[in-house]
Amino acid sequence: MQSNKGQPHGMRIVSDQADPEGVGQASGTMPASDPGAMAAVPGNVSTLPGEPGQAGTAAPAAGLTDVAEPASATAGAVAAAPADDGVDDRVQDEELADDPAPVLTTPTLGEVLLAIEELWPSSLAESWDAVGPVVGRPERPVRRIMFAVDPTLEVIADAVSRGTDLLVTHHPLLLKSVNSVAATGFKGEAVHLLIESGCALVTAHTNADSALGGVSDVLADILGVTDTKPLAPSSAGLPEEGIGRVGMLPEPMLLQEFASRVFSALPSVAGGVRVAGERAGIVQKVAVCGGAGDSLFDAVRDSEADVYVTADLRHHPASEAREASLNGKPYLIDVSHFASEWLWLPSAADALVNVLHDLGHSVEAEVSKINSDPWDFILTP
Ligand SMILES: [Zn+2]
Repeated sequence: MQSNKGQPHGMRIVSDQADPEGVGQASGTMPASDPGAMAAVPGNVSTLPGEPGQAGTAAPAAGLTDVAEPASATAGAVAAAPADDGVDDRVQDEELADDPAPVLTTPTLGEVLLAIEELWPSSLAESWDAVGPVVGRPERPVRRIMFAVDPTLEVIADAVSRGTDLLVTHHPLLLKSVNSVAATGFKGEAVHLLIESGCALVTAHTNADSALGGVSDVLADILGVTDTKPLAPSSAGLPEEGIGRVGMLPEPMLLQEFASRVFSALPSVAGGVRVAGERAGIVQKVAVCGGAGDSLFDAVRDSEADVYVTADLRHHPASEAREASLNGKPYLIDVSHFASEWLWLPSAADALVNVLHDLGHSVEAEVSKINSDPWDFILTP
């Protein structure tokens, strides 16, 4: 098993079948998924349907629509001609003659599941979690894949209206046991809509949180945090895998400035970003956990992080973390659960397309533009 810490987001493992040129070829025909570029490109503020007003005071950076049309939205471009880069056409033609483009086939759901397992192994999932296939026949072809945070009815309806064969969501539809999937409730309705539309559903949840290139890795990268290690290392994976990440900013910065960076990086949601700590406090060591991370406070304190970015911080855990702080640290930055995990979707889509390409398959992948954050507006003093 190869680690690929240096690869773009989500490229957990470089397939042994793929020679370096083959890998380069795949990524060369893909839209850019450069982590640096992602770091400069905030979320899909301007296009998420049902978009709430901009909360907070930090101005979002330019280029918001870039993520709304994420790189993976055209991931099917694995079979597209490379852009004209000024290289002499004759040389290119000769190279092409020597190295004909591989014939790519449409994968089955079963083949896509193998690629998903390679990227986000189910062994990395927490014991209480439910990951993997939820709906779908393994032998069915998969041409179009959509990634989303939540398998809500709106997300599913949008996916099937776009001809999606496979919906990959971060959150499970059926985390707890059910006795019925009759379409008399929203979960049964979701199952029926998926099956009747021929759309499979797969969950990549805590396995995707933990994996190299997973949710917290992407969040850390986008915030400019480097040299990361897990807050809670996985017992099942690589040393770099586990829940949450802690690492360093290249330079110390004011908490106010860092909070603005967090705000600008995230998709626009009603709840905005909440901060506990002195605006003029200095931060350089940063802990992050996409989604709800209040179970990791002990690990955050042990890491001596200056600030902790996570979601869903409730009164008592947050209050007690502030009481237990040393010289006010770690400061807390509480963000939208949805937004913190949405950031992973474009790189996840790219990664899956790349792995399938290396296995000889062509698919189109895109990211859902539905805002499934449950909150719609906020009142502030
Ligand atoms: Zn979550």
